[in-house]
Amino acid sequence: MAACWARVRGRLRKEVGEVEYRTWLRQMTLTGIDGDEAVVVLPTRFLRDWVNSHYGDRLRALWQAEDPSIRRIDIRVAQPNGAEAETVLAAEMQDASAAPEDAPGLAESLAPRPPAERSAPEPRSDWIAPLEARFTFDTFVVGKPNEFAYACARRVAEQPASPGFNPLFLYGGVGLGKTHLMHAIAWAIREHHPERTVAYMSAEKFMYRFIAALRSQNTMEFKESLRSVDVLMIDDLQFLIGKDNTQEEFFHTFNALVDQGKQIVVSADKSPSDLSGIEDRLRTRLGCGMVADIHATTYELRLSILQAKAAAARVEVPTKVLELLAHKITANVRELEGALNRLVAHANLFHRPVTLETAQEVLHDLLRAHEKRVSIEEIQRRVAEHYNIRLTDMSSARRARNVARPRQVAMYLAKQLTQRSLPEIGRRFGNRDHTTVMHAVSRVAELMQQDASFAEDVALLRKMLET
Ligand code: ADP
Ligand code: MG
Repeated sequence: MAACWARVRGRLRKEVGEVEYRTWLRQMTLTGIDGDEAVVVLPTRFLRDWVNSHYGDRLRALWQAEDPSIRRIDIRVAQPNGAEAETVLAAEMQDASAAPEDAPGLAESLAPRPPAERSAPEPRSDWIAPLEARFTFDTFVVGKPNEFAYACARRVAEQPASPGFNPLFLYGGVGLGKTHLMHAIAWAIREHHPERTVAYMSAEKFMYRFIAALRSQNTMEFKESLRSVDVLMIDDLQFLIGKDNTQEEFFHTFNALVDQGKQIVVSADKSPSDLSGIEDRLRTRLGCGMVADIHATTYELRLSILQAKAAAARVEVPTKVLELLAHKITANVRELEGALNRLVAHANLFHRPVTLETAQEVLHDLLRAHEKRVSIEEIQRRVAEHYNIRLTDMSSARRARNVARPRQVAMYLAKQLTQRSLPEIGRRFGNRDHTTVMHAVSRVAELMQQDASFAEDVALLRKMLET
């Protein structure tokens, strides 16, 4: 049996690779065969759940290939002699991210906790989603659009649950760094306050767990262990919109934790007041700590991010190329990163330096997508439709606000999305002067700063036109 087990392990090790094997699977021990079931143990619940969900089927298949009489694999937690199980958790989190040098100081959090602190109910380890090693404060590039959110995140990481910062509500569009900042907070708290338990999960996961608990009539355990954490972080709260029961549960957990002086950090794609579909009492509570938004990136921020990431990847990328990307790939940081990664991968694969030419070649689809030609007519038509005015009003002399504003929006979009000059745009809008266009462009930009729902409207129009 031992030989059979050794072969199964060997196969699995080959399949998943050395790093993955060492991180997750090395600690598996076969404790026996029970009828058609092989019993394998791991030192913690977290590892057990991870191995079960990621490698369970594979393990069974490999074993059956060796010995068809084995039908099931029972993966269990080893009964710890003493209380080592919990302290291994932190080590696993670090393993999960596989690059400890990126997260300095984590070793401190591996220190065993004094036994006195273990009496409270333990949060279930599998609630703590693995943290991404790269998502630390060190790797977060700060610029105008995110400096406030960054400062708030740092503050919460240094002094969890300080008045005025609880809850911390981070919001902004996709790919702008919300998850990055949340992981950074979690890493930093682990480092500076290793005695505090941090639970980080997506709202979706929260809901999923809650429903599973309801189904298995385990809601007490769910509630208790969640209420025993010191810092609760829920990412992408917008997932809870319309999920009334889960929202209710979250609301109670939230209150219980805040009352105990525990820190809550929440992220969402909108501000509390714009999150329609969230119960009012929850909205009120969400907004009563610190609300920090992450704005769309600016050219400067995109360029600094690219510089930082290129340096981290240790690949020489000419400034011209970084500028091209910062200029063309404006949607969000995730896309920007994707483009750079492609360039870097290409350079490594072919041992060729990155140049403007190779960049254009490698990224031609991306760059072209962002160059999609939109005509002024198309813009006028879409904007008129959106604001429910007549197309002819785009070039009419009417100055009533309800037509003048949409017209300005169309001019703004024409400037943003086409290569046309200001005088040319003016001509297409009923022979207006280029200064009128200029005024429209700056007026719309200004309004977008002041009025979030207007900004959203314009962004939506832009998106429709670009895709
Ligand atoms: P969100 O959760 O807001 O959708 P993420 O936090 O997942 O966005 O960020 C998307 C990607 O962009 C991640 O790889 C993240 O590291 C990167 N990123 C976002 N903002 C920054 C920043 N200011 N500096 C460095 N990387 C960033
Ligand atoms: Mg996210």
